[in-house]
Amino acid sequence: MLIPDQIPDREPILRVGIVLPEDRRSTVNFFIHGKATIMADDQYLQVESLPFGIDANDEGLSFMYRGVRIRAKYISVTPEDEHDHAEVWPVVAGRGFHWCKDITVKLISKLEFSVSDGFIMLINELPLEQYLASVATSEMSAACPEAMIEAQTIVARSWMLANVEKKHVNLGFDVCNDDCCQRFQGITHMTDHSLKAAQKTRGMVLMYEARICDARYSKSCGGVMEKYENLWEGAGLPYMQNLADAKNFPAPDLTDEQEFRRWIHAQPEVFCSGHFIPEQDLQQYLGNVDEAGHYFRWQTDIQQEELTSHINQKLGLNAIYIHSMQPISRAGSGRMLELLITYADHSGTLHHITIYKDYHVRDILHPSFLYSSACLIDAIGMEEGIPASFRYTGGGWGHGAGLCQIGALGMSLHGYSVEDILSHYYPGSFLTTLY
Ligand SMILES: [Zn+2]
Ligand SMILES: [Zn+2]
Repeated sequence: MLIPDQIPDREPILRVGIVLPEDRRSTVNFFIHGKATIMADDQYLQVESLPFGIDANDEGLSFMYRGVRIRAKYISVTPEDEHDHAEVWPVVAGRGFHWCKDITVKLISKLEFSVSDGFIMLINELPLEQYLASVATSEMSAACPEAMIEAQTIVARSWMLANVEKKHVNLGFDVCNDDCCQRFQGITHMTDHSLKAAQKTRGMVLMYEARICDARYSKSCGGVMEKYENLWEGAGLPYMQNLADAKNFPAPDLTDEQEFRRWIHAQPEVFCSGHFIPEQDLQQYLGNVDEAGHYFRWQTDIQQEELTSHINQKLGLNAIYIHSMQPISRAGSGRMLELLITYADHSGTLHHITIYKDYHVRDILHPSFLYSSACLIDAIGMEEGIPASFRYTGGGWGHGAGLCQIGALGMSLHGYSVEDILSHYYPGSFLTTLY
């Protein structure tokens, strides 16, 4: 595992959660391509090109091998060399989101199976650089220009080694395989292109003063980058500011509601806009688990009934209908800091509740987690003072801080270098090679 607050001087070994206890799996299958050693507690098996199904219950793990059921508390599978891998299914992609689905992933290096709360936990332990060779293209396709893939690889490495979030330390791994941390599907989508990007940038990270940058990134900023402190707890970071995703173009003041409304209806010439990368071309560059859609400017409606039941469930309310939803304050990218919801109870009395910060606002506004809180909310089809539905007209996809993936793609397609891209999204940072 990564060691907190330590800048490594050699390649670290990373532990990635692939199947988590929250996935509630009682069976996980894998197929060994090539040779591997299976260790089941203290029993060793040498296997070659075989399928396995690992089962879990409260007593532990078990699997069938040559007609015998082998039981163990802990099972590890270690492919003999780097050409051997295991195909593992079912693995969750999009955990907790509406696009959530089961996929098959190809994993190299060591697999560790254990039981947690009666369910299977699978951790993939592998050298960081092998992880990075896959993660950049698990996020975006190999059709992206080299500068984009290299920038994404450096950002992923920096974020990993800054090791600030530590969301899964209690379960014994550094990061999970999904959007909660960084999307990772093993070597499933690894190409020569992405391997080359990892090798070419080996050990390279972004630094600010004496620390590795906590290099966050998201799909599309919507035109203005967001500040760290507007999204997460803790002090701000000097390299994450409200800046226009453009050169020689000042950020508009999107904390002002009128200005924000104008901005959302405008098509400014920012790197993540259609001026730099037409949205119909995005499909060939974006990762395969993404929904085809509009990222820069989008619109979606939600019916009164669906919204009311969603808000009731999320907040434990007994609202009969949502009367209004009003953004109270916005951060510099237009993402909401405060949202005031007014709802009616069964007697018709109105109540107010305030939701704070981008993540919670997105969670409350839509059962599928709204793309971005940088959106206008308009009531549609009033009937006796009750809106029939609400319309969200928004910009961007994700939190908008740090590297804007579509913007970086736009930059790389227009000839900008890795250094140009990184200094644009993390101003004041510099590149260094750790190992
Ligand atoms: Zn995670
Ligand atoms: Zn952008």
